[in-house]
Amino acid sequence: MTKKLIAGNWKMNGSLAANEALVQALLAGLAANAALCDVAVCVPTPYLAQLQALLSNGGMALGAQDVSAFEGGAYTGEVSVSMLKEFGVRYCLVGHSERRLYHGETDALVATKAQRVLAAGMTPIVCVGETLAEREAGRTEEVVKRQLAAVISANGHCVSEIVVAYEPVWAIGTGKTASPEQAQQVHAVLRAQLQAASAHADRIQILYGGSMNAANAHSLLAQPDIDGGLIGGAALKAADFLTIIAAAQ
Ligand code: PEP
Repeated sequence: MTKKLIAGNWKMNGSLAANEALVQALLAGLAANAALCDVAVCVPTPYLAQLQALLSNGGMALGAQDVSAFEGGAYTGEVSVSMLKEFGVRYCLVGHSERRLYHGETDALVATKAQRVLAAGMTPIVCVGETLAEREAGRTEEVVKRQLAAVISANGHCVSEIVVAYEPVWAIGTGKTASPEQAQQVHAVLRAQLQAASAHADRIQILYGGSMNAANAHSLLAQPDIDGGLIGGAALKAADFLTIIAAAQ
């Protein structure tokens, strides 16, 4: 059985004071009930140094929300994998739907970013997911397979080192969650695609993301191919995030 991963995506939220309060509450909760799953928080870039210090005794892994596809140089505003690495980053989201939607990120760009993260010895959390229009047109499977295929073809056998997050776009930040059955159906498709690409696919964690919360986490995480969660809104509330972590045990 794959160890579960619960990763928080703080998006563009936080402040030095709020981050400290949230992390201290999470660390206290984790110390009281040792987590049997992997836990990570993906934070805005300016807070990486603060989080690196706050997490120096372990408890949770540090994640970033995006990275440049370039190694370095004249790319104003971009952040490279080596910069992330200096701050102790272990995970990096790539291809989050908000990056695809608001920043025009293509499947090819996402695949290159995943490649950069892997080459730096970190773990990309590759986000895939269909829009509502695509689901209603019966194109869910085709869309998520196309998005994942780009990452598989760019990364070859290293694909067994990635984490995948299935995040139906219509469920992100909307309060609408995919039912456990809807999510499991897509996770099984992604698992089969990974199995066809890698002999080690069974160890790849496939997370569900999209309005996962304290109330629905248990039923989603009980599905055979749901190996954890990528949590947005509920990751900003210590009690909710801790409840989701407990549901993953
Ligand atoms: C996300 O941002 O990846 C996400 C899943 O957000 P939410 O949990 O708020 O839907």
